[in-house]
Amino acid sequence: MEAEKIIAQLESILASEHVHTDDKTRKLFAEDLIFSGPPPLAVIAPATRDEVRDSVRACTKAGVALLPRGGGLSYTAGYVQSEEDAVPAVVLDTRRLDRVLEVNADNMTVTVEAGCTCETMMAATAEYGLRATMFGPTTGRYSTIGGSLSNNCMFFGSAKAGTSADAVLGLEVVSADGKVVVTGSGAIKNSVPFFRNNGPDLTGLFLNDAGAVGIKVAATLRLEKIPKGQAASSFTFGSFDTLIHAIRAIGQSGLASECLGVGPAPLGDEAVSDPTLHVMCEGWTQEIADAHLAAIFEIVGTDGTAGEPVVPNFIRDNPFSFVQSPLDAKGRMQIWTHGVFPLGRVTDAYDGFMTVLKDQFADMAALDIEASLSFACAGSAMMVEPVLYWHGQAKNLHHTGMTPVEDRAPEDNDAARRDACVRSIRGAFASMMDDLGAAHMQYGRFYSYASATNDETVALLRNVKRAVDPENLINPGVLGL
Ligand SMILES: Cc1cc2nc3c(=O)[nH]c(=O)nc-3n(C[C@H](O)[C@H](O)[C@H](O)COP(=O)(O)OP(=O)(O)OC[C@H]3O[C@@H](n4cnc5c(N)ncnc54)[C@H](O)[C@@H]3O)c2cc1C
Repeated sequence: MEAEKIIAQLESILASEHVHTDDKTRKLFAEDLIFSGPPPLAVIAPATRDEVRDSVRACTKAGVALLPRGGGLSYTAGYVQSEEDAVPAVVLDTRRLDRVLEVNADNMTVTVEAGCTCETMMAATAEYGLRATMFGPTTGRYSTIGGSLSNNCMFFGSAKAGTSADAVLGLEVVSADGKVVVTGSGAIKNSVPFFRNNGPDLTGLFLNDAGAVGIKVAATLRLEKIPKGQAASSFTFGSFDTLIHAIRAIGQSGLASECLGVGPAPLGDEAVSDPTLHVMCEGWTQEIADAHLAAIFEIVGTDGTAGEPVVPNFIRDNPFSFVQSPLDAKGRMQIWTHGVFPLGRVTDAYDGFMTVLKDQFADMAALDIEASLSFACAGSAMMVEPVLYWHGQAKNLHHTGMTPVEDRAPEDNDAARRDACVRSIRGAFASMMDDLGAAHMQYGRFYSYASATNDETVALLRNVKRAVDPENLINPGVLGL
């Protein structure tokens, strides 16, 4: 079908001001923080489940793909097609689906539309003294629940409660044929969403799927009472070895709500500052929180030197505003490349990342690219994540995705070379992690799912995808599908 026809149809489903076909918008939505692709035919912004359903039905009937997008703050080509594999597509911007549908303090559930931000959800549940068990990534002011569940994400509450996927009790998803599928106990006739595992876990099929299996329109999450007690500490370590030893033991203990280790990557001959660990414990009472922190002091022992908990307290006091920009504090680009590892393999992961960085050190030094490493407890696992910092070519999203940043000075001639070097280092990280059997959040089109997972498992997923999306029109290409 010609582009004009489908656009006219979409304009009859949505008001025309919510069907964007101008070059500026199409270009903005064809980029994430690092990848660029061909501009979509249009960007649509439905505000209701029925508008999503009708738009999806119209597009797939016309053979046009849909690329779902929330806040757009991922960096793995999750909603950006590659130039080589691109098919005619429309980006579906979910941010007008932003309502909190219900806070049910008896059932301890919250149901929100998929474009709702974590901050909006948190404000609604806090009125009842409640919060989601994992209550968001640091970008929760701008990123959406739909994006966070499709990526799977971690941060607030994650050391204890795991990732965002672990908090989900049920979903409402629009499939490629425009049907609305409900998962969990919400699908039982005469019931409500309160329990995930009713029969096979169909909810899980749509989590961490990079939007491949359907368009989420609503989600129900599990709530808990906001604990009254809170106790935090920061520690400095003489080396990453001792930090890893401590953070792994803290992960095993289940005592912390957040536990994050960070430090500059020790690459060249110059001395770098020692890595630090930031721990937040909670408890029903202050005494319980204090007891958890005391146990963590015991775990750290003499390996770490305790300091004022400035960082963990600041993060908690400003949960969705302490990260305001995708640029770092020096105005440089920064990019994260993570792997999720079993606790017993954290040292291997550290060694793997350091080997890649040391191989690239000469180029990094020549191009003024710096690196740090971070470790974060995520339930039963550890996220290990090097961060690269460089003066590169900013994308439009760097200026518009979060708090607007000022226009930067024109890039020097080396910006493109730095960008290429960063991309090459990320590629080396990804293949090293495949060798180490890492899992991932935020798969998009960057990390290998199809090639790194065993054949039988991928074949089953391909069959499921074919059953719900026979023409492969819902976010084609993510997960390698
Ligand atoms: C400065 C910075 C800090 C960050 N901090 C964290 C952090 O603390 N923890 C963390 O885990 N991540 C973090 N991230 C990554 C990112 O913010 C999270 O992954 C976030 O959850 C993405 O949400 P989003 O709404 O922006 O999703 P998007 O980037 O818009 O989309 C993500 C994926 O989900 C799909 N998708 C979006 N909405 C839907 C839907 N309704 N139905 C189906 N598919 C959909 C998209 O196609 C895409 O594949 C950070 C990023 C930045 C830039």
